[in-house]
Amino acid sequence: MKKECYIGVDVGGTFTKAALLDHKGRVLSKAQVSSRGFSNKRYFADTLRNMSLRLAALARIPFGEISAMGIGLPGPIDSERGVILSLTNIRGWNHFHLAGFLEKYLPFPVYVDNDANCMALAESRLGAAKGARFALCLTLGTGVGGALILDNGIYRGPFFLGGEVGHMPLYASGPVCECGGIGCLERYVGNQAIARRARQIFGKAIALEEVSRLARRGHAKAKKVWQEVAVCLALSIAGIVNVLGPQVVVIGGGVAQAGNALLVPLRTRVRRHAMRHLKNKIRIVRAALGNDAGFLGAALLAKEKLDTR
Ligand SMILES: [Zn+2]
Repeated sequence: MKKECYIGVDVGGTFTKAALLDHKGRVLSKAQVSSRGFSNKRYFADTLRNMSLRLAALARIPFGEISAMGIGLPGPIDSERGVILSLTNIRGWNHFHLAGFLEKYLPFPVYVDNDANCMALAESRLGAAKGARFALCLTLGTGVGGALILDNGIYRGPFFLGGEVGHMPLYASGPVCECGGIGCLERYVGNQAIARRARQIFGKAIALEEVSRLARRGHAKAKKVWQEVAVCLALSIAGIVNVLGPQVVVIGGGVAQAGNALLVPLRTRVRRHAMRHLKNKIRIVRAALGNDAGFLGAALLAKEKLDTR
C-alpha cells in the first residue's frame, strides 16, 4: 500500500514555513524560506516545488508518496475553489486561483485556506482543542485572527468570512478599521494598540515581552496593560460563547505569550459576562502548538480534503 504524506505550508508576511506529515499527523521534515518576492507568482510556484523536493529528501521518502499540499494564507479564501479573495501582505493576488495555478507545477492536488482556519484545525485535531467538537480559536498578534470549529469542522460561512472575531465591533465611536468597520476588536487588542496603551501607562516605549515579564513579577502597571486587554477580549469572547456555546476557547499568537498575566483576568472577565449555564463549562486555554499550528493545520486540511473528495 502506498504511504500517504501531506505537505502543509504557512505563508507569513516575512517567512513561509512548511512541513511534511505522515498519515498520522507526525512531522517527518520541516523547511523555512523568506516570503520576499512572492508577488511574482512563478517564483512562488518554483519555491514551493523546491521546498517540496527538499522536504521529501530530508524525510527520505520518494517524491511520489506526497499525496497533497495544503496552504494557509492571511486573508479570506474560497477554500472550495482554491481562490484567494483578498490578501493584504502580498500584492497582486486578489481573486487569484492559487490552487489551480500551483497544480500546473506540482504533481499532487493543492488546497488553500485562511491561516486562522488552519491554526484552528491543528489545535482541534492535535492540540489544545483536541476532543472538543465546538471550539473558538483566536490568534492574537499584529492582527486578531479568529476561527470556529463547529461540529468538528471549520465554519467558513457562505462568503468565507466566518470566524472573523477580530472585526467584531466593540465601540460604536471607535476608530475606523481597514476592514471597513468601526471600533473593531483588533483596533484595541492588536499588538500595535497594546504597545500604544503600554506606552501611555508606562510613560515610555516598552516592548510587550517586557510588559509580560513585569506582569509575571506582579508589576502593577504591567498587570494593568493585560487587564485592559482582557476586558476588551472578554466582551467579544463572552458574546461568541453566549451565541455558540463552544466547549473550549483557544488563545494563540504572539500576544498569548503574556500567559497567565492575560489568561487569568480573561477567564474572570469571560465568566462575568457569560450566561450562568455556560460560565462553568467553558474552558479558556493557551494554544498548544505555537508557531507550528499554521503548517500542521494546512497539512491536515490537505489530508481531510483528500479524504472527503
Ligand atoms: Zn475591522
